[in-house]
Amino acid sequence: MSIAVAHISKVYGTQKALNDVSFQVKKGEIVGFLGPNGAGKSTMMKILTTYIEASSGEAKVCDFDVNSASKEVQKHVGYLPEHNPLYLEMYVKEYLHFNAGVYNVGKERIAEVIELTGLTPEAHKKIGQLSKGYRQRVGLANALLHNPDVLILDEPTTGLDPNQLVDIRQLIKNVGKEKTVFLSTHIMQEVEAMCDRVIIINKGEIVADKRLSELREGKDQTVIVEFDYRVEEAFLQKLPHVKSVVNVHDFVYEITFSTTKDMRSHVFDFAHDNELKILQLNQKNESLESLFRELTNK
Ligand code: ADP
Ligand code: MG
Repeated sequence: MSIAVAHISKVYGTQKALNDVSFQVKKGEIVGFLGPNGAGKSTMMKILTTYIEASSGEAKVCDFDVNSASKEVQKHVGYLPEHNPLYLEMYVKEYLHFNAGVYNVGKERIAEVIELTGLTPEAHKKIGQLSKGYRQRVGLANALLHNPDVLILDEPTTGLDPNQLVDIRQLIKNVGKEKTVFLSTHIMQEVEAMCDRVIIINKGEIVADKRLSELREGKDQTVIVEFDYRVEEAFLQKLPHVKSVVNVHDFVYEITFSTTKDMRSHVFDFAHDNELKILQLNQKNESLESLFRELTNK
């Protein structure tokens, strides 16, 4: 097991941040740790990376206990903290060299992580001169330096603009092909875009732990489609498995199907056969959205 957490609680003074939290993450999984601000995500991640100690319970990374084998845990885990503390006056390469020294990592690995995180064009600059997106890449490169099996990323995309967001998500997905990734976020779409599984935390307690495929199972499917012109709802009703058609605004329609089979290609073929042009076509995972709202709005 890459991560095994059993009955972890954490109290800060009188503030209970985690209450009897248990979950596991298997090798190779990309798991989203989703919850509103203050839910306890960063606290859990700091415990897993040995930055703070739990008040009670047991946590292991790659079968090493965070308390009794913290050095081993540190060897196996790469951590991108929430407020990634970078030295703005340092050059990218200098910073990575500095940390490589701390980790006792060979020089060739620095070139490797620079390449891996797409930092090559910026590697000669000062960290302070980089955009937020590139600073996050430096943070990721740093987390990857000692080639850990497990990556713990605390809100890796918060504060990025839409383009940077897409790039960093892609990068995390790529890195995730070879590693176990546990990443926190308060954004549902983030989980949708990157993760195999979601663990939802609210007020220090785990309220859901599900595979994304499981969330989609047995539920209706909604496809959002935008045409270049108005289409009669009755006309769209002719699609197979249609349950409802709603014209949400302008030429945008939400079509709900009573099937879990991906209906986007059917919508596409239907449009083509009827000489309609599609401007956008997306699947909406209502189950994750409604689950999140239901579980965290109390
Ligand atoms: P999240 O990362 O999900 O936003 P945190 O783990 O940062 O949540 O915080 C969980 C709770 O613990 C919050 O109520 C927060 O105010 C509190 N908390 C976090 N760190 C400290 C601290 N060092 N001292 C006191 N309370 C803290
Ligand atoms: Mg946090």
